[in-house]
Amino acid sequence: MADLMEINGVQVAPGTKQAIRVPVTQDLNGGEVAEVIHVIRGAKPGRTLGLIGLQHGDEWFDLQIMRFLVSELDPSRMCGTLLAVPVASPVAFGNLQRITQPESDGPDMNRIWPGVHTWLAESMAKVLDREFVRKCDAVLDFHPGPWGGACAMVGYGRDFPNQEIIQRGRDLAMAMGFPCVGSTRLMEVFRAALADRVHVPPTGRSQPGRGDRRPRLGDRAGAGVA
Ligand SMILES: [Zn+2]
Repeated sequence: MADLMEINGVQVAPGTKQAIRVPVTQDLNGGEVAEVIHVIRGAKPGRTLGLIGLQHGDEWFDLQIMRFLVSELDPSRMCGTLLAVPVASPVAFGNLQRITQPESDGPDMNRIWPGVHTWLAESMAKVLDREFVRKCDAVLDFHPGPWGGACAMVGYGRDFPNQEIIQRGRDLAMAMGFPCVGSTRLMEVFRAALADRVHVPPTGRSQPGRGDRRPRLGDRAGAGVA
């Protein structure tokens, strides 16, 4: 990526970290709906990795992971940039429910990228597509199961038009060392947001198939899975 890292008009200098609040819209109660994007910019140039979690409001385990990374990573010792969106749907998280807005045509944020209409989930996806996804070279999308989830797995996209992207996603998923690795249709999820970019978007899940299409197991299925 270019040396310039700018989020919603805010430039982040090399060797620094910053949390940037990006307004999305005003809710009916008068409050602001906003996305918070953490930028940890290494002192040396390099690629940009994006982490995104809590598109589903009941999958909150990634908060602890991202909190640790954001607080502990030292940008003076880093190459490249980490962008972290711990809470992609603050609306769903605030209600502790999977979907963002039940009474809408697009309630599930993870199904409507890059957003077309003005429902809350789509409005948030539009902002994150513009200010987050399109600034990353690779994206890790976290979907840990809610309380009680027990089965750890990592998925990678199998439906990207570029076979190299599929292979890179699979290599990265396997390198994570999870006992269970499967493929899923991420192109359908992120759609045009990822269509023309070289991304490696594995999806971490702890309950395969929960409320979702069941990922195709087989790359490393079974071992260590209760
Ligand atoms: Zn999810």
